[in-house]
Amino acid sequence: MSEAPAGPPAGLRAKGCGEATVLRERGQREVFCGLTGIVWLHRKIQDAFFLVVGSRTCAHLIQSAAGVMIFAEPRFATAIIDERDLAGLADLHEELDRVVTRLLERRPEIRLLFLVGSCPSEVIKLDLSRAAARLSESFAPRVRILNYSGSGIETTFTQGEDACLASLVPELPAEPQRSGPSLLVVGALADVVEDQLRRLFGDLGVGPLHFLPPRRSPELPPVGPQTLFLLAQPFLADTARALEERGATRLAAPFPLGAEGTTLWLKAAADAWGVPRTRFHAVTAPGQDRARRAIAHSAQQLSGKSVFFFPDSQLEVPLARFLSRELSMEPIEVGSPYLHREHLAEELRLLPPGTLLSEGQDVERQLDRCRAARPYLTVCGLGLANPLEAEGLATKWSIELLFTPIQGYDQAGDLAELFARPLTRRDRLVA
Ligand code: SF4
Repeated sequence: MSEAPAGPPAGLRAKGCGEATVLRERGQREVFCGLTGIVWLHRKIQDAFFLVVGSRTCAHLIQSAAGVMIFAEPRFATAIIDERDLAGLADLHEELDRVVTRLLERRPEIRLLFLVGSCPSEVIKLDLSRAAARLSESFAPRVRILNYSGSGIETTFTQGEDACLASLVPELPAEPQRSGPSLLVVGALADVVEDQLRRLFGDLGVGPLHFLPPRRSPELPPVGPQTLFLLAQPFLADTARALEERGATRLAAPFPLGAEGTTLWLKAAADAWGVPRTRFHAVTAPGQDRARRAIAHSAQQLSGKSVFFFPDSQLEVPLARFLSRELSMEPIEVGSPYLHREHLAEELRLLPPGTLLSEGQDVERQLDRCRAARPYLTVCGLGLANPLEAEGLATKWSIELLFTPIQGYDQAGDLAELFARPLTRRDRLVA
């Protein structure tokens, strides 16, 4: 008796990815939970504090992911729910009030406090929105208190940022009365990237310009029917929906990864502002040039090599587009936890025909497909990387792409290098 091949059923490799059929899988998954987002969000919003209401496991997760800060007090912590609480013996609301009061007395610099839900707080149905509303009343106007869920039940780790930003949207002030549009860039970006984009939009004459999240909570951007927004990250479905409910309009574009992605992303705004083609070219050509030169070295190394994406960060589709179009890599399978067809439409069109798209995960089946394909490089979560390395496959941790500035022209070289490095390491080990 012969075994069925590990490859996907015929018909799932469609002719053009914009119209491609997607292999949907619902099985065991290997992903981090949304608490992970605290690691980069607490660095971005400098007067915010993230209080996870969870278990010791939750505390270990964010402490080990964020590392220990020696010189600064951390801006995250976990209020531990213990056995007494789980048995319903304690009034958790009273205890939470005590913890928050103590924290805010001790840390007067905190202006924005997020109560972050977890699996344990959801299992015992602790109503954190009620707690946030009650505590906000006590501490307003000095501290704004919001809540969102970072629980690992049915989510993936980048959804933590989406939930956090979506919780901020109702807090955004209404846009002032004026005659023209404003641009809102949505998604946490490293400050250095934000500064570069600010300069580019300024040179294009696109503005007023705001960013969500802001660096400090008093700088919450205004929103309303004249707000046009560009997503800087592909995993912000709830935030985009909340902004649309406030009257804002999304500008459709690929994501700002690589020379091409960054140019098309900027162009979406430039077109909305009616920027002449010559001006757009004059402003963006130097950046495009720098980006292409910076990736040339990695492109030589990666050209023609195959790459396989396990679903993890939700950045998989834009990354596969960048690797295939700017580094001539060949994506075999591009797996993503969720494929937001509308937000990814411009990306999917640019993927090479025949790329297998998969959504969700059945990890054993996907591992079989990966082993059968023997890709040159596998992009996956931490949990799969070591076993695959032990089988002789070179891997890239997808979570690293969230901790590293990768958007914009001046980061394109670093982005390419992130994919070249595992292959360099493997070549050195083999030599
Ligand atoms: S929120 Fe859930 S998945 Fe995340 S660390 Fe806590 S218990 Fe684990």
